[in-house]
Amino acid sequence: MRVVSTSALPIDLAAQVTAAVPGTIVEVPAHGHVGLAGLDLASADALVCLLLDRIDAALLARAPGLRVVANCAVGIDNIDLAAATAAGVCVTNTPDVLTEATAELAFALLIAVARRLGEGERLVRSGAWTGWALDQLIGQGLLGRTLGVVGFGRIGQAMARRGHGFGMRVIYADPVDTGPSSAPAGPAERVSIDELFATADAVSLHCPLTPETRQLVNAERLAQMKPTAILVNTARGGCVDEAALADALVQRKLFGAGLDVYAREPAVDPRLLDAPGVVLAPHIGSATTEARTAMAQLCADAVIAALRGHRPGNLVNNVAPPWIRRS
Ligand code: NAP
Repeated sequence: MRVVSTSALPIDLAAQVTAAVPGTIVEVPAHGHVGLAGLDLASADALVCLLLDRIDAALLARAPGLRVVANCAVGIDNIDLAAATAAGVCVTNTPDVLTEATAELAFALLIAVARRLGEGERLVRSGAWTGWALDQLIGQGLLGRTLGVVGFGRIGQAMARRGHGFGMRVIYADPVDTGPSSAPAGPAERVSIDELFATADAVSLHCPLTPETRQLVNAERLAQMKPTAILVNTARGGCVDEAALADALVQRKLFGAGLDVYAREPAVDPRLLDAPGVVLAPHIGSATTEARTAMAQLCADAVIAALRGHRPGNLVNNVAPPWIRRS
């Protein structure tokens, strides 16, 4: 059998797979991400890929023996799930192990925007800082403010816990009502998406990118927000209309935005680079040693399970057992 990874990984995939399924050929790049374009997938049984890799019907046609695609991410918007299911290919993702890291980054962005940390850092580095001033870089405190969480799943609830820790009131909007007080996240009130955008002092996106959430934050939603409000996006860039966001920021209709993800990564709308009140991160939500190692391990576990004919963990599509090679 043959396992192919589009990227180097922080675990020894080859050692683990060959120990579990002797004789398997495992191909992992020595460094970085090589992508799918040049890979020979004709005889691949398993593929480990990143959110950068588009898995669609054309790719699956290149890999007729594939039985599992292990996506080293929790988001699966890079994968045509219907095409994979139709081809009998199991798709797995990496939930839970990146939840706290991503919520930490989202909260870091919220604090950075509220306290104008990006502007402050640039001022110090520029050499133009003339010293303490009573009216310098006046920001907002978070205590007593309302945090609006869009997508009250794993990361959304972890964000809510952080909000509570900072004395914030938490409201959320989610297609499924998880109840008025979800135990792990503490008290949080479910509201409509319109009420959330209109009343929150900070809106943080934690929904997946789907046809329903694409450009969820558009000009109309931004117009609903308070001019003192902050938008945080660690979900996916496609959830936000970046041109509309840049307009709102330039026209001072929002206090600021903290962004980790962009619609056309690695390109960033130039107007966002210049907009006031913006703190930008390079898609590092899950970028801790612990999270990235655990994500890679979940991919290895899924590949090994599938090669052994078992149901892989974190299966996100409905592929019928016995999970064996299609003829
Ligand atoms: P999750 O546990 O599945 O939570 C997502 C939540 O969003 C679910 O409660 C889901 O409800 C809800 N949702 C779906 N459609 C919605 C809509 N139209 N409006 C409001 N809520 C909606 O996923 P997670 O583990 O928290 O991850 C969330 C997302 O974060 C991922 O999909 C990924 O794109 C992103 N992420 C980014 C980074 C980063 O590096 N920046 C890292 C990790 C994850 P249902 O369950 O009812 O559908």
